[in-house]
Amino acid sequence: MSDTVSISHATFGLMGPLTHTPTRSMTIHCVIFQIGERVILLDTGFGTREMLDPNGLLGQDALFKLGIVVDIRLTALERLKARGIRPEQVSDIILTHLDNDHAGGLYDFPDATVHLASEELDAFDGLKPRGPYRPYQISHRTKFQTYEPSDETWFGLAARSLNLPGVLDAKLIPLPGHTEGHCGVAFRDGQKWCLHAGDAYFDRTINFLTPPPGLPLEIAFQTSAGDREASIAKLKQLREENGQQVDIFCTHDQSEYLSHTAGRGSPDALSVLG
Ligand SMILES: [Zn+2]
Repeated sequence: MSDTVSISHATFGLMGPLTHTPTRSMTIHCVIFQIGERVILLDTGFGTREMLDPNGLLGQDALFKLGIVVDIRLTALERLKARGIRPEQVSDIILTHLDNDHAGGLYDFPDATVHLASEELDAFDGLKPRGPYRPYQISHRTKFQTYEPSDETWFGLAARSLNLPGVLDAKLIPLPGHTEGHCGVAFRDGQKWCLHAGDAYFDRTINFLTPPPGLPLEIAFQTSAGDREASIAKLKQLREENGQQVDIFCTHDQSEYLSHTAGRGSPDALSVLG
């Protein structure tokens, strides 16, 4: 690495409780990497456009069922500004998948290169409709860098190293089932590895039970039950065999988010709302 990477965790949005779990409020757990002046985001949350036109772009049904909090202060653009980061500093965005609670903020950073699995962009462009895939999120200007399957492995899991040489040591880890090209994102944090598991699971206290119960939200949005359950099984094995070396967290588990932000002194979107 040419420069020190400063890593911080943020929630770029808030949603309602995850039914039948301890998660009383769903965060949208994203990661900010700062390398000198350069900034890389891992997922973007909802963007300013959804917050300014929630009925038009999110729709009454999603707003009500997911309990999406409408507040522009929660967007990546505003949260970065609060940290003194200008939007043009965001050079790259790594995506777990293209659902709008993860990729809605793309248009707020039009100059960034967007890194994701090739299967995910193919699914977005495909003919199968999916509620949270919203065509307006992506414009002809969006610069994509897609990643195909490779022979690479990481702790026994298939991996695809991101093309950020000398900047950030990070890999896509395919964990399909929630969407066809859904990936976790592994990255180094000091001596440890972290794995942002995206929406491969929703609540660490429930999803790793044996056998895991099917939560309403994950079943409603899954593209394949078999793939989703296989992805959870992979994460469970990783936790059991390498939990000391790999810190695993997901997008929507509030308790995980709080454990990654407590005591770090960073602006915390939960406190924005009192
Ligand atoms: Zn999500």
